[in-house]
Amino acid sequence: MSILIVEDELRVRAFVARGLTEEGFRIRESENGEQAQELLRQEHFELILLDWMLPGLSGIDLLKAIRAQQDITPVLMLTAKDAVADRIAALNAGADDYLIKPFAFEELLARIRAILRRVSQRASPTLSYADLTLDPVTRKVVRAGVELSLTAREYALLQFLLEHAGEVVSRTRIVQAVWDHDFETFSNVVEVYIRYLRAKVDEPFGSRLIHTVRGVGYVLRSGT
Ligand code: CA
Repeated sequence: MSILIVEDELRVRAFVARGLTEEGFRIRESENGEQAQELLRQEHFELILLDWMLPGLSGIDLLKAIRAQQDITPVLMLTAKDAVADRIAALNAGADDYLIKPFAFEELLARIRAILRRVSQRASPTLSYADLTLDPVTRKVVRAGVELSLTAREYALLQFLLEHAGEVVSRTRIVQAVWDHDFETFSNVVEVYIRYLRAKVDEPFGSRLIHTVRGVGYVLRSGT
């Protein structure tokens, strides 16, 4: 998880950067809006901590510029401005949250975690079909209340089948999605992995979800 801190006050920036690094985040720092724009062009961040009052391009103008480019990176505004009108202006400009200086580091951390949690839920909702569920955030797979232990490849294959539940998917599509390769070199691999998956997902439960459609591919559906 990488976070960009845009803050001109060295003391605040260093304090926040140190605390977040200790919490396991990867931190990049910027002391003004122009430098931040440059970093945003080069790298992807999970979140931006953005001070409002910056020399040159202000935080709110940087935020507007980011959103104008359809960039939806979550932004947490940090500022000493505490008037209701300012908070509204920040939220209207596309901020995800707003924290008034001075703040306690624990509150900053809690707000960052809340934003990241909301975003990950929005980006990857739990997939479920019949009595099978797969959570892309925790990577937990459960069938009929029993947690299944899958390898990374089995997981990716099952995720693809779940995303297309009820739809027959060809081996070629599976190989492209799960192995990111073309079909020729992987003609048998899909069959092998379908077998591995069935042994974990279907066989212990006595009812089949993964079906072969002869000559075409596979489909995840309940019933025979
Ligand atoms: Ca400032």
